[in-house]
Amino acid sequence: MAPRIPRHATKIVATLGPASNSPALIEQMIVHKVSVVRLNFSHGQAQDHIDRAAMVREAARRAGREVAIMADLQGPKIRVGKFAEGKVWLEPGATFVLDAARLEPGDVQTVGLDYKDLPRDVKAGDRLLLNDGLIVLRVDGVRGDAVHTTVVVGGELSNNKGINKEGGGLTAPALTAKDMEDIKTAMSFQADYVAVSFPKNATDMEMARQLCNVAGAEWGHKPGLIAKIERAEAIPRLEEILRASDGIMVARGDLAVEVGNAAVPALQKKMIRMARDMDRVVITATQMMESMITNPVPTRAEVSDVANAVLDGTDAVMLSAETAAGRYPLETVKEMSRICEAAEQAEDPAHDLDFSGGHYNRIDQSIAMGALFTAHHLGAKAIVALTESGSTALWMSRHAAHIPVYALTARLTTQRRMALYRNVRPLLMESQNDRDGALHQAEEHLKKRGIVQSGDVYAITCGEPMGAPGGTNMLKICRAA
Ligand code: PGA
Ligand code: MN
Repeated sequence: MAPRIPRHATKIVATLGPASNSPALIEQMIVHKVSVVRLNFSHGQAQDHIDRAAMVREAARRAGREVAIMADLQGPKIRVGKFAEGKVWLEPGATFVLDAARLEPGDVQTVGLDYKDLPRDVKAGDRLLLNDGLIVLRVDGVRGDAVHTTVVVGGELSNNKGINKEGGGLTAPALTAKDMEDIKTAMSFQADYVAVSFPKNATDMEMARQLCNVAGAEWGHKPGLIAKIERAEAIPRLEEILRASDGIMVARGDLAVEVGNAAVPALQKKMIRMARDMDRVVITATQMMESMITNPVPTRAEVSDVANAVLDGTDAVMLSAETAAGRYPLETVKEMSRICEAAEQAEDPAHDLDFSGGHYNRIDQSIAMGALFTAHHLGAKAIVALTESGSTALWMSRHAAHIPVYALTARLTTQRRMALYRNVRPLLMESQNDRDGALHQAEEHLKKRGIVQSGDVYAITCGEPMGAPGGTNMLKICRAA
């Protein structure tokens, strides 16, 4: 085993925004190991996202590496309206009214709301958290469209800041009319993943998938669906949400406000474990390198946070404002990549490659586990998975292994989707109907990239007949010629 070679197993998701709007910078971010680019539909117009997607595809081509594009829908995030002065200062003990009927800009006494149902969802005694919990309001009562509150924790409140109800319980459906339009936009550039904000159950995810598949039908495109876990109600339903999704995001920003900060670290570990056990992918998100929005170096706590997410087994760590609006987008990516590398070196694969406790009754899945087991014990340099749908690579990526998995596919959409899988390096190959030709092509890929040299052992999985998804039925151990 050669654990000292940097593997870049953990993937980095970077959000684009005003700070990262240049083709050259995006190319550099991809060169420095950003594998998934997130387009945040909470900001900007449809055309901005279309332009950014084109910029990403072009930058990836120049960087020589395909990346996945993730369209992150805004969802029913409840926000206050705008203020006449742009912001107000709320004093503790003062009264403040959230008025769904108000159309005029707000002031220090009252402000409008975009979510008209808020008055129906709250009652006296509830606590509302604004601006990610920096401001706390206690509900005194609801009169018509107006929610009357008293300021518990005051501070500055500016335009369009988010509102959460402590403990959850807002009834808004996960997909808004805007989200439905945004899905069409995202499918027009064939976003590889669509992230759904605030889903509360499997039905929300199934609905989103249907809308995506219908909107993508014109291009024969079906994106991966990511459920952002950021509502208290989603926690008891994690299993059904995971089953209905391709992956989840530990969306710590909103989640922390709903369930309380202190509950989040344990939930993060639980979500990562559940996702991996159910063969789903998982992204750990929000404030991972927050201080680098303004500072050129991260705090020790941030370094630990990123490293611990890696050790928990996350597929990806995500950057939000750090790359979208920060002063040091590229430095943040480089720093994050270094932290991931170091944490990966510390991970112990052996305990995860004893499959005696597992139940693998599918042929393709057993072959995938067999490849991991055999490659680990033989100290192979690489595992190659010839894959149509990407499933073989996904199964392999659910286990900690210090051997990189090279997933070779003839499908561009599969290649891009696998960019999110931990420890998987997706490569595009020419379509091949004959097994020997495909195996030869695979070895050429490995040699060309310096992954194996003459005499090195590697493992390869494939299916016969070639080209059918779910058809993996062979494992071959090769010595490079
Ligand atoms: P957001 O989601 O950045 O779109 O709010 C992530 C989170 O809530 O953590
Ligand atoms: Mn959120």
